[in-house]
Amino acid sequence: MSRLIVFDVDSTLLAVESLDFAVDRALRDAGDGPQRAAKLKALTDLGMAGSLEFRASLEQRLAIAGLTRRAVDEACEALRAHATEGMADLLEALRAKGHDVAAVSGGFVELISPALADLGFSSGDIRANRFVFDGEAVTGFDRNNPLSRSGGKGQVVAALKALTGRPLAVMVGDGMTDYEAFASGAADSFIGFGAVTVRAPVREKAPAFAETVEDLRKLLLG
Ligand SMILES: [Mg+2]
Repeated sequence: MSRLIVFDVDSTLLAVESLDFAVDRALRDAGDGPQRAAKLKALTDLGMAGSLEFRASLEQRLAIAGLTRRAVDEACEALRAHATEGMADLLEALRAKGHDVAAVSGGFVELISPALADLGFSSGDIRANRFVFDGEAVTGFDRNNPLSRSGGKGQVVAALKALTGRPLAVMVGDGMTDYEAFASGAADSFIGFGAVTVRAPVREKAPAFAETVEDLRKLLLG
């Protein structure tokens, strides 16, 4: 039966965390760059492990980052080289079987859209956060976007399922926010994805877990 298959983006479709990637690049030449980068990595891990509320993590990360429009544009282009190996083929196979495929991310559309377009996603298949700019500086994010809140992925997956009319939605991702989209009832099943990073609480709870893209292909296509 054709299903809606919803993919997380950071550490799932892409082999990096896109915001950390953008900030690392922007901080490379800053004097206190390494310290700021280490703080950001710690915040991301806490957030992904479910130990820090997602919105608080996002606020703190953006405050440390000090991103500019130019840094966002440069990172966006560079991210195109960081799709998870084997994912393009798997997505093509899923679409060929008639499944609807969507990307739902706590990351930012301004960073990930071109990399996702390379993987065959149109803008209508992508749900993600949006930066707020003041002139050239990133000063925050669109706080009305459900993806900027804990539990937001579930809300967005439920809306996508209604929109596509598919009776079953599968969530695929590495993080607790992805698992929660299933635990909330919005997705009918969940596959934890550990080919990029294994999050211990996710592996523990996930009803199915893919260590590799090949595992994921077997779980999704049999
Ligand atoms: Mg992720």
